[in-house]
Amino acid sequence: THFGYKSVARDEKQGLVADVFHSVAAKYDVMNDLMSFGVHRLWKRHTIACSGARQGQTILDLAGGTGDLTSRFSDIVGPEGQVILGDINDSMLKVGREKLRNLGKVGNIEYVQMNAEALPFPDNTFDLITIAFGLRNVTDKSKALASMQRVLKPGGRLLVLEFSKPIYEPLNKAYDFYSFNLLPGMGQLVANDAESYRYLAESIRMHPDQETLKSMMEEVGFEMTSYENLTGGIVALHKGFKF
Ligand code: SAM
Repeated sequence: THFGYKSVARDEKQGLVADVFHSVAAKYDVMNDLMSFGVHRLWKRHTIACSGARQGQTILDLAGGTGDLTSRFSDIVGPEGQVILGDINDSMLKVGREKLRNLGKVGNIEYVQMNAEALPFPDNTFDLITIAFGLRNVTDKSKALASMQRVLKPGGRLLVLEFSKPIYEPLNKAYDFYSFNLLPGMGQLVANDAESYRYLAESIRMHPDQETLKSMMEEVGFEMTSYENLTGGIVALHKGFKF
């Protein structure tokens, strides 16, 4: 089933991640709404509000999947601008392209298969890069962040929207229970796929916390880095600039 991206170098984790997203692609949007009780829409809306995106800009929505952010950016940049939806997984890209075309979003969007660790663009290409719920899945996160830094224009901005560490211990406990005990069951019921949602919970627990991710961004050259906790730190929005 892994047709179409033989040219993309893969390791074991990438193979696993590929299986997960091939298997969830068709049900991805429904599951997102269910699992987050619709709150992912608010997290994404907030990301757009913090993006500084403007008409005419060139934007990369990395690990863009089914294109929620791309859809909004397409409206903002207008016909003079361009949005690239980049994803490693052709099943996700296909579902995204279908969805956005049906919404009438055409003309300024390109769909490109790519690995975040080795972005296929010249230096200084983008005004803005977003990666929403994607960095967690990347094997070498520092390599990916360095690649993003390279292709950003000077003055450009990176936004990383990702699951993070809840800041209150009771919330942390409840969230762990939800992730490991309820989520796989929901995945089984709705998508007939408990395993992918078990992977999801694991990958969230393994992901670097707020301060660690901020330091990783600084190590590859991002400046004026900051983050904001959303929903008690279940999710965090990290921001950094290239100068
Ligand atoms: N950004 C979308 C959203 O917020 O709804 C999709 C997020 S989805 C949870 C994660 C996406 O990351 C999947 O579409 C997956 O194929 C993609 N992905 C995983 N590893 C990647 C990599 N190394 N490079 C690019 N995309 C990757």
